Amino acid sequence: MARFKLLQELYYQELKNATNINFGTARNKKAKRVQRGKALFIPSVKDKILQVITKTNTDNDKYTTIVVFHGVSYVNRETPGSKRIISPSNIQYFVTKNDTKDIQVSCSCMDFYYRFATWDDNQNALYGSPPPPYIKTTNRPFVNPFKSPGVCKHIIGVMNNLKKRNYF
Ligand SMILES: [Zn+2]
Repeated sequence: MARFKLLQELYYQELKNATNINFGTARNKKAKRVQRGKALFIPSVKDKILQVITKTNTDNDKYTTIVVFHGVSYVNRETPGSKRIISPSNIQYFVTKNDTKDIQVSCSCMDFYYRFATWDDNQNALYGSPPPPYIKTTNRPFVNPFKSPGVCKHIIGVMNNLKKRNYF
């Protein structure tokens, strides 16, 4: 039985809570060991979107971790509580801080791909294409019996950093 209700919009905190409730809190601790490259900020003022792409790694395994904030408010100049974003083409933007942004996520790691991508997609919280439908070929138990959306340690690591730097 799914322990998660279908929502129109999903905030990061809800994704993280679903992960903690259905899979325990080990990823929160492991997220502290995730190393990050410089985050690439890709703003889209017209669509009110801010995409953040980060190369992440743990030991020798390298991944691409993407978070996309929807409903982002861009302002023309710096205001109290706004945050400066420099786009890849070196243009500066200012966004206002907001904890309750609809979010989409993706990560190229196996934990995310096999456990969460399909169910995040079901909740409209996946950035990009979902994996092909799962066909059970072994007797191993399902990796996500609750069909719960969630986040991997890389996404948690990236979001912890963005939170620390006051981006949301
Ligand atoms: Zn990951």
